[in-house]
Amino acid sequence: MGADDRDGFLRTFSAFSEIGAKNGGLHRLTGTPEDGAARSLLISSFRERGYTVARDAIGNLFGFVLPPGERPTILLGSHLDSQPDGGRFDGQTGVVIALWAARVLEPKIRSGELPFNLGVVNWTNEEGARFQPSVLGSSVFTGRVPIQAALGATDSRGATLGDCLAAIDALGTDEVPLPSAYLEVHVEQGSILEREGVDIGVVEGAWGALKLDVQVSGVQTHTGPPPMEERVDALYATALLVTAVREMGLDQPGGRLHTTVGSLRITPDSPNCTPSEVRSKVELRSDDPAILIAARAELEKTLAEIGRMTGASLVVTAESLRETTRMWPKGPEILERAAAGCQLSSRRMKTVAGHDALVMNSAVPSLLFFLPSVGGHTHNRHELTEDRDLVNGLSLMVEAVESLGKEYATSPTDERDTASRDSA
Ligand SMILES: [Zn+2]
Repeated sequence: MGADDRDGFLRTFSAFSEIGAKNGGLHRLTGTPEDGAARSLLISSFRERGYTVARDAIGNLFGFVLPPGERPTILLGSHLDSQPDGGRFDGQTGVVIALWAARVLEPKIRSGELPFNLGVVNWTNEEGARFQPSVLGSSVFTGRVPIQAALGATDSRGATLGDCLAAIDALGTDEVPLPSAYLEVHVEQGSILEREGVDIGVVEGAWGALKLDVQVSGVQTHTGPPPMEERVDALYATALLVTAVREMGLDQPGGRLHTTVGSLRITPDSPNCTPSEVRSKVELRSDDPAILIAARAELEKTLAEIGRMTGASLVVTAESLRETTRMWPKGPEILERAAAGCQLSSRRMKTVAGHDALVMNSAVPSLLFFLPSVGGHTHNRHELTEDRDLVNGLSLMVEAVESLGKEYATSPTDERDTASRDSA
């Protein structure tokens, strides 16, 4: 890879960063005109190189160096959607590196020196910010979420994902088969690599996440006359819940349980009424399934206790578990060798955040690596990964694709059954 490639790559990154730019960060929610504009830029980048463009029923957007079907395919990608007032590096880094890795490797693929095809993908709605659940595009692609349920997901105003994607012309009818392997690079969204001065995080597994909807019900009344001791205030009960959830995480030895209440919807949300109902989103994450099970049981006790103290009722109305994951075992070895080949230092790590690569890992051999995040800033405008590290990511992606392709693309999914998920 020459200096021209490096400069061109960084220019492409800047061009994508301008779409939905806000205060130095990025505000590019799924199904908005900004999402549409980023997709258009990706499509024109594909067409410029003569790639075959494909869009599936959930709007996942693919570009293939050769027409698909001729050779085993290695797929590279990530996501172009962002959090509200999010950063420029979460997701976008992986798509732009995928795009440029394909560009660098194109001649060897077209000539047949590399005996596989390469595809680049932008997954729809990874962030789960406007529409839930997160990692939706890859989940539909791998058959974990039915297409109709995904298209019917609604935002806070009741607009469906299907309608919003149709409005930005993102939906297609192409049936894209599973690739032989999938690779993704993402920013770390933590500060371990920076602290240790390591170039690359080789992801060998993922924390599990238990996401719960908790409904807190109280009694609506005037905020004036009723005596304090008679009030059943749903927001007060929720405040106790928020505090208790945070303490559960802090009390877990070794920092192995991360706990959050990240969303509240208050009814009636009037300054002159005591709240009658609060719908909250509680999240528990750990690398150990046993810790998650214990935390879930403790949460149930906490809900009952707060109910007794306040008179409110606290009920879990929905929950979903993303199990702890072990990546395809050969992946980390391949990435470590490739990193050494690029003179980059690496360390193994587990991801706490969810990624499309974890979803893909349930279906095909998948590899994931991280680049340093300055200060660990993430999901805000302060996200930063230095140019040097972005370029390192591109170099490693190119190297890893070459070695993965040579070793495995010709004998596709033999190793697939070793990519297993631990049960939680
Ligand atoms: Zn991301």
